[in-house]
Amino acid sequence: MSGKIQGISGPTVTTDLKGLTLYERVYVGHAMLTGEVVRLERERAVIQVYEDTRGLGVGEPVQGVGMPLTVRLGPGLLSGMFDGLQRPLERLRKEMGPFITGGKEMYALDYMKRWHFTPLMKPGELITPGAVIGSVQEGAFTHFILGGRGDHEKIALLTEGDISLDEPLGQFESGRDIPGCHEWPVRFARPYKRKFAPAEPLVTGQRSIDFLFPLARGGTAIFPGGFGTGKTILEQSVAKFADVDIVVYVGCGERGNEMADMIAEFEELRDPWSGRPLRDRTVLVVNTSNMPVAAREASIYTAVTMAEYYRDMGYHVLFLADSLSRWAEALREISASLEEMPGEEGYPTYLASRLSAFFERAGVVETLNNRIGSLSMILSVSPPGGDFTEPVTQACLRTTGAFLMLDTSLAHRRHYPAINWFQSYSLYAGDVAKHYQGKVSSEWSSLLAQCRQMLQEEESLREVSEIVGAEGLQDADRLLMRIAEMIRTEFLQQNAYSDDAFSPPEKTLAIIKRLLDLHGSAAELLKQGVALEEALKMQKSGASSQESEVGRLETEKR
Ligand code: ADP
Ligand code: MG
Repeated sequence: MSGKIQGISGPTVTTDLKGLTLYERVYVGHAMLTGEVVRLERERAVIQVYEDTRGLGVGEPVQGVGMPLTVRLGPGLLSGMFDGLQRPLERLRKEMGPFITGGKEMYALDYMKRWHFTPLMKPGELITPGAVIGSVQEGAFTHFILGGRGDHEKIALLTEGDISLDEPLGQFESGRDIPGCHEWPVRFARPYKRKFAPAEPLVTGQRSIDFLFPLARGGTAIFPGGFGTGKTILEQSVAKFADVDIVVYVGCGERGNEMADMIAEFEELRDPWSGRPLRDRTVLVVNTSNMPVAAREASIYTAVTMAEYYRDMGYHVLFLADSLSRWAEALREISASLEEMPGEEGYPTYLASRLSAFFERAGVVETLNNRIGSLSMILSVSPPGGDFTEPVTQACLRTTGAFLMLDTSLAHRRHYPAINWFQSYSLYAGDVAKHYQGKVSSEWSSLLAQCRQMLQEEESLREVSEIVGAEGLQDADRLLMRIAEMIRTEFLQQNAYSDDAFSPPEKTLAIIKRLLDLHGSAAELLKQGVALEEALKMQKSGASSQESEVGRLETEKR
């Protein structure tokens, strides 16, 4: 059945097409632009179009696809780069040149490539959703081929061999083909058996995060910060160094050149944990500021569905997005063109519930095939004017487990990453510290407590010294301020462009231990009547050679 366009308003069109369902995918206009039904009314349906609607005319045809917006899930997603509708950007550019226009259907997966399929089920066995039918080797990863949505049938034939994705793996008893990939509607979370509370660390290689505000596998975190506070650099650093199997990174509404730089860098760099090229473990979803706004709204769903798919194979997956605010702005634009009642600052009233439903898709789960997988989320938020009371930051605050506030004044002083150590928090800190305590050092928690206390005392002493002057302080207090300054510059700061960009937990511990030990022994000397400068000098020389030894051992281990 086909209908016509009745009206066009920004990224939305209305149609008289009957029989559509909510969230059904539709083709709009002669150009066959992809859209999604977002509202059904008695006489018309409202469609959100994911591509540029300029040039579209009233009266042009609208066609329903009979299915919601889906992504294709199968081998070949890793190291891929897709737009918000999962179209492969490299192949798209090859076919269309640099000016990608709308309406181009293209499969996310390469249907020519051949994979060696090894069955893990036998004829007579029942394939259900999420069941492990068999596997192929996708780079360094064993890619499990999983039962699709609604599958519930016995196998008649399943054979080992080289196949491409347009060939079946075998047949069900009904004679239907068993496919090597399946489709999944992006707005629906993929199911799992059970969810567990996140408790294991997600090592990021960023000292201020791993030590002060640690993240957990399966947890959620946001980096809110004003312009230039280092959100993009931090997201990218975590994408490079995080201790996970697979990374899905969404460039959402930010500058395209940043993405291009990142892609070039990922081609060359290696994952510090496995030593393999970073690109091999990464899936990129790109919807930069020059691409259609509405597809930006869909892009985070496209990405998270791919992330869930690898989680369902039992992998630890990290979802990163830069920036969630650009997604929220797209939502606001669509909502405005639908003439919905606006809530705070023009965002739709359902902003918070949409966000919490999205964050719900993170977690540590027991999969339908009895494996343990995790999906962690880290998103940057760009509050306009750095005002954290705005709706997007506030909505995230209520539903995410860690809040790492990037501070404009720290960034001005070039203290990067500009994570404010008084305003940030992580709800995972207690559980995760226990892990580090057992795995890295039994001193972890006590050093953490000392470090926090020093930063706190420094702050009060700073206020005092502003009144009485630094000379008015006692030697013990001046020593504390000197050590706290070292903690800030040598420990919390981490230059993303140096060898120090990645700090494994052992190195993180060694640095903070050196600084706190230095404090302890210099304080002892002060008590014996040694002058402050002298005490620092006497202690410093011995300690730093120990640490370079730790650094050397760590580098050798990898
Ligand atoms: P945002 O995305 O918040 O606008 P960026 O991530 O683009 O900010 O960072 C702005 C600039 O700050 C970078 O170009 C870089 O010069 C500097 N910067 C940010 N983080 C670091 C870091 N960890 N090390 C060194 N420089 C950094
Ligand atoms: Mg940025």
